[in-house]
Amino acid sequence: MSKVALVTGGSRGIGAAISVALKDAGYKVAANFAGNDEAAAAFTKETGIPTYKWSVADYDACAEGIKKVEADLGPVEVLVNNAGITRDAMFHKMTPQQWKEVIDTNLSGVFNMTHPIWSGMRDRKFGRVINISSINGQKGQAGQSNYSAAKAGDLGITKALAQEGARAGITVNAICPGYIGTEMVRAIDEKVLNERIIPQIPVGRLGEPDEIARCVVFLASDDAGFITGSTISANGGQFFV
Ligand code: NDP
Repeated sequence: MSKVALVTGGSRGIGAAISVALKDAGYKVAANFAGNDEAAAAFTKETGIPTYKWSVADYDACAEGIKKVEADLGPVEVLVNNAGITRDAMFHKMTPQQWKEVIDTNLSGVFNMTHPIWSGMRDRKFGRVINISSINGQKGQAGQSNYSAAKAGDLGITKALAQEGARAGITVNAICPGYIGTEMVRAIDEKVLNERIIPQIPVGRLGEPDEIARCVVFLASDDAGFITGSTISANGGQFFV
């Protein structure tokens, strides 16, 4: 029987590529999204993957949303914590609101989504949790103290939960993408992108969402059963750890 996979922020950008790749690999997929109804409807129409609207920043909404997904598809066996936002500003200009929104979504969102699913994974002695962090959580990025802190936190929770889940058959891993050509990155000024960002990437191009999706499919698979607490850096050679 097909396993059930839930992808947060799964109807656009990297998340959409992950949802489609998991579906193609034989999973029953649910894609969560926050508010872009139009994109979600178009995604479901194109792919047949059902979409579910709630904010990962809201614990109760996550618990409710997960219940609905599980009632529709069955217990979630693969959770991909992909939803993320940016609210960039240099630190001296960053508002408490910008800090809070990014921490609530990009870091607490991982707790809010994983916590309601965790006990079921433990009971069933199987689970795959894959957290989409970022190169900027590994190296830090000026203008993104909020985002860098949240994404570094995602690596911390990945390693702690990997230890807690190991005996229960749950693996927990992270992927740190570099610059990937999604709306989040295309929103960067084109001159900055072409003159400052792409020249820093040794392979000389942005990554493709599919290149992250294929890492997720591998980490979700039985072949990756001995890999837990790991971070895959997929950044075109821009940063090594
Ligand atoms: P996009 O902006 O293209 O898509 C973000 C997705 O997350 C959307 O589906 C959005 O929903 C959803 N989302 C945002 N906030 C919430 C929320 N509170 N609750 C539920 N869903 C939410 O982002 P990317 O595809 O570029 O990024 C995906 C992930 O990869 C993020 O975690 C990002 O930090 C990370 N990443 C991206 C990189 C890149 O170069 N693009 C590089 C490194 C990491 P909706 O459609 O409703 O708005």
